[in-house]
Amino acid sequence: MRYWLVMPAAGRGRRFGNEPKQYQRLCGCALIQWSLAPFIADPRCVGIVVALAADDTGFAALPCSRHPKVRTVIGGAQRADSVRAAVEVLPAENQDWVLVHDAARPCISTAEIDALLAAAEHSDGGALLAVPVADTLKCADDGNQSPTVAHTAQRDGLWRALTPQAFTVNLLRRALNAAAESDLHPTDEAQAVEWLGLSPKLVAGSPQNIKVTQASDLPLAAAILGEQQPSTMPLRIGNGFDVHAFGPGDQVMLGGVRVPHTQGVIAHSDGDVLLHALCDAMLGAGGLGDIGMHFPDSDPRWRGAASSRFVEACRELLAGRGLAVVNADLTLICEAPRVGPHRAAICAQIASLLALPPDRVNLKATTTEKLGFTGRGEGLAAQASVLCGPLSQALSLANHAHL
Ligand code: MG
Repeated sequence: MRYWLVMPAAGRGRRFGNEPKQYQRLCGCALIQWSLAPFIADPRCVGIVVALAADDTGFAALPCSRHPKVRTVIGGAQRADSVRAAVEVLPAENQDWVLVHDAARPCISTAEIDALLAAAEHSDGGALLAVPVADTLKCADDGNQSPTVAHTAQRDGLWRALTPQAFTVNLLRRALNAAAESDLHPTDEAQAVEWLGLSPKLVAGSPQNIKVTQASDLPLAAAILGEQQPSTMPLRIGNGFDVHAFGPGDQVMLGGVRVPHTQGVIAHSDGDVLLHALCDAMLGAGGLGDIGMHFPDSDPRWRGAASSRFVEACRELLAGRGLAVVNADLTLICEAPRVGPHRAAICAQIASLLALPPDRVNLKATTTEKLGFTGRGEGLAAQASVLCGPLSQALSLANHAHL
């Protein structure tokens, strides 16, 4: 079942001070990166539209903004305006499914997405994740400084609405347009659908699918993210190989480091063979295809791109699968340039891109004894192997690396 994703992220979340809530740091990434990651990694999700404030500068700085699935639109003053703007630009058919997910819900699990899609398929009014209310609910009187209990509310049958919520494109457009015409502001999408007289299905979500609303929620979200990664997840290995031909120029990029040389390389991006081999190894370990699928040569966005951006994006894709690189071993194959004087800088740069301590990255260099294209000095080649493990364990390693 294929679907589209809409994420309203035009709000400010003023309880976090000047920086909008969705860009608060959580386990080394921005909050919104965690909220997007499972959808970027889900092959059923065919495209994502993020609605941003007109003056937003934070999103474009994140690697996920450059993923081919992701595009942005300018949102509105109210949540429903943002969702409506995003749904308008979806290149989707009327009967396609669209999920709406909060930018501040980083702990959404694949199991919840599966349950939501399964329920939505058999519902005329779409479906939403929700959790039955467990606490006793008190209604306060209007003494706003020190309120007292006016009465205890009836809690039976009450659910807290979470996201994602799933509807057909046609239904969501109809519901949001009708609300806008009546100048009504639904606080979630299901409410707009209810106003059409339809009944979205309630799908039991996880209480761990929390919405981060204030700074003190961040440590809780971090703990949940750590716990979500099964400790029994097997280690995953991946390998990559890349070649670039020499061309005009006076330097080559190797592992994100500028190395002076008598030639440059011919490439669509910056032609960094080490990082390209590394990306393929990372994608291989995650079962995520290859570098050409995610950053096609035909896409003008990658022209001249720094390959470190590819590595960042691959890290994010792995995170979406609950994985992170544990160590990387790379081999550069060429007659020249000599790697020795640059080895430490290259290892440090790659370690920093992977948020690993420097001793987790190894770089070797070899020639091919003057044989083949590398032996004739026509180009260079690189091989990379990575081991990936559960993200939760890698996170503690990354924190250690930053000390
Ligand atoms: Mg390449």
